[in-house]
Amino acid sequence: MTLRPVETWLTDMDGVLVHEEVPIPGATEFIDALKESGLQFLVLTNNSIYTPRDLRARLLGSGIDVPETAIWTSALATAQFLADQRPHGTAYVVGEAGLTTALHDVGYVMTDRDPDYVVLGETRTYSFEAITRAIRLVDAGARFIATNPDPSGPSQQGMLPATGAVAALITAATGRTPYYVGKPNPLMMRSALNRLDAHSESTVMVGDRMDTDIVSGLEAGLRTVLVTTGSTRPEDVERFPYRPTRVVDSIADLVAMVGSPARGEHGIDAGHDSGEGHGEG
Ligand SMILES: [Mg+2]
Repeated sequence: MTLRPVETWLTDMDGVLVHEEVPIPGATEFIDALKESGLQFLVLTNNSIYTPRDLRARLLGSGIDVPETAIWTSALATAQFLADQRPHGTAYVVGEAGLTTALHDVGYVMTDRDPDYVVLGETRTYSFEAITRAIRLVDAGARFIATNPDPSGPSQQGMLPATGAVAALITAATGRTPYYVGKPNPLMMRSALNRLDAHSESTVMVGDRMDTDIVSGLEAGLRTVLVTTGSTRPEDVERFPYRPTRVVDSIADLVAMVGSPARGEHGIDAGHDSGEGHGEG
């Protein structure tokens, strides 16, 4: 099998480029190298709270300059999915600007009267009233969609309940489970590729979690790189029934790979790091 040269990079955000607001060393250089290379890239996040404009501002605050058009969120993927499935439909949304803006931009109408969908996203202002409304609408037949299955997320003060935890509440009340669009659903990767008009065989996905980033990249037919600056610890990599193409210490190790031929000295396919060789260079 001949591997195609890498023409497109997808990278997860939290745990790869930043920890919350704190940049991970090498992230700025990696994004700068991508921009200089002329290769296509998207920064992916399962978090549906923010619009790409918000996220660009947040990343810029951490010294990482990513164009707004190079950010792909689970909210955008969800909006694209709904626009494909049921163009110009209606939705009752529990979520923030990231989600409502994305749905509005694809021509959806927000309503709490007999919507096609109840769409649940990340929010920091869950209200009992809004959730009760969502439960009644799902019970009455609205299709239940959620942006991402993450049960919890990090914050400076400690763990926060996330979309998956609120979805579980609605499921307990209605007996209906949502369709989740974000990772680990490979739909998130496929929608990112479609956005760029890119091909899976010439694309690499970089992530910090085996059970979301790597598995969904794998299932979408991408080459995958695990960085060990986030969720998955190096010693746990070999326990999974699937492997990334490479394991590296951090995003800093990928700067030299950007623009390198696939099998070159610094290429993505050079060597077969499996976690055991991790840390040796
Ligand atoms: Mg991550």
